[in-house]
Amino acid sequence: MHRVFNAVMATEGEFGQIGRALQAVLQRTEAAWQSRNERISQESPNLRLVAVTKTKPKEMVLEAYKHGQKNFGENYVQELVEKSHDAEILKACREIRWHFIGHLQTNKVKKVLEAPNLYMVETVDSVKLANELNKTWEKLAKGWRLKVMVQINTSGEEQKHGVPPSQCCDLYDHVRQKCGALDVVGIMTIGAFDHDLSKGPNPDFQTLIKCREDICSKFGLPKESIELSMGMSNDFEHAIEVGSTNIRVGSTIFGARNYKPKVETAQQNPAEKPSETQMPDTQLGHSSHQDHVTGVANLAL
Ligand SMILES: *Cc1c(COP(=O)(O)O)cnc(C)c1O
Repeated sequence: MHRVFNAVMATEGEFGQIGRALQAVLQRTEAAWQSRNERISQESPNLRLVAVTKTKPKEMVLEAYKHGQKNFGENYVQELVEKSHDAEILKACREIRWHFIGHLQTNKVKKVLEAPNLYMVETVDSVKLANELNKTWEKLAKGWRLKVMVQINTSGEEQKHGVPPSQCCDLYDHVRQKCGALDVVGIMTIGAFDHDLSKGPNPDFQTLIKCREDICSKFGLPKESIELSMGMSNDFEHAIEVGSTNIRVGSTIFGARNYKPKVETAQQNPAEKPSETQMPDTQLGHSSHQDHVTGVANLAL
C-alpha cells in the first residue's frame, strides 16, 4: 500500500483539543478499568495507552507528550524514522517510547531498530522476521533486550497480517527460546473493524485471549506474564473490559486521518475509514497536565 502523508498543520486551538481528547480517553479508560471483574483484573494487572500518531504531524506528538503521554505508536516505517529522529521531539520528549505497530518487512528492520527511543515492536508475524529482529538488535548492542509482541491474525482476513491462532504457540516459543536479544512480552491483534458489540463480545479479542490461554498452558506460564495488545478507537473500552493490557488509540485522540493517495487510482486501505479533517469531540471543558491524573493505578501513558 503506497501513500504519501499529507499531514495538515493544526492550529493552536486544535492543539488544546488534543489535551481534552486525551483526557476524555483516559476517563473512559478508567471507567472501563473499574468495571472489570476480579479474574480479569488478576490476569491483566497493567494497562498501557499507546497514542497512535500515524499520518499526524510531529506537533501533535509534542502536544500529547506535554500532556503526559509517553507511549506513541507508528505503523509506517518512514514515519517512525522521521518522527523518532526529529530534533525537536528528541529534545522535548526525552522519555518517549515508540511502538512500531505496522507490518514490517525484513529489509526495513534495521531502520526501525535504529529509531531512537524505540520501545517495542508489536508486529512479529513470522520466524523470519523474528530472526532478523534478533540478529539486528544483537548487532546494535544496546545492552537490553528489545520488547516484542507476536501478531496474530484473529479475524482470518487475508489483508491482515499475523500468524493464524493455530501457530501462536510455535512462534511465541520460537522467540522465547531462540531469540535471545528479544523479550517477547505479549501477543497483539487488530481484528475485524466492524464488530457490532450489541451482538456480544468481539470474537477476535476472544480469540486472542484463547491464544494466551493456549500459550500459558502449553509452556506453563502465568497469564499475567503475557500482555494482550488489542483495542483501538472504536472498541478500546470493550477491549479493556475483557482484559487488554495495551490499547492503541489514534483517531479518538488526534482526529480522523487524512490520506492522500499517491495516484488517483490508489486503493483505499480497507482498514481505514474514509477521512475528513475533523478533530475529536470531547465534552470536557479544559485541560492541563494535572487533569491527567487518573484512578487507574497501573496505567502507563
Ligand atoms: C491506526 C492503528 C491504530 C489506531 O487506530 P484508531 O482507530 O485511529 O484508534 C491501532 N492499531 C494499529 C495497528 C493501527 O494501524
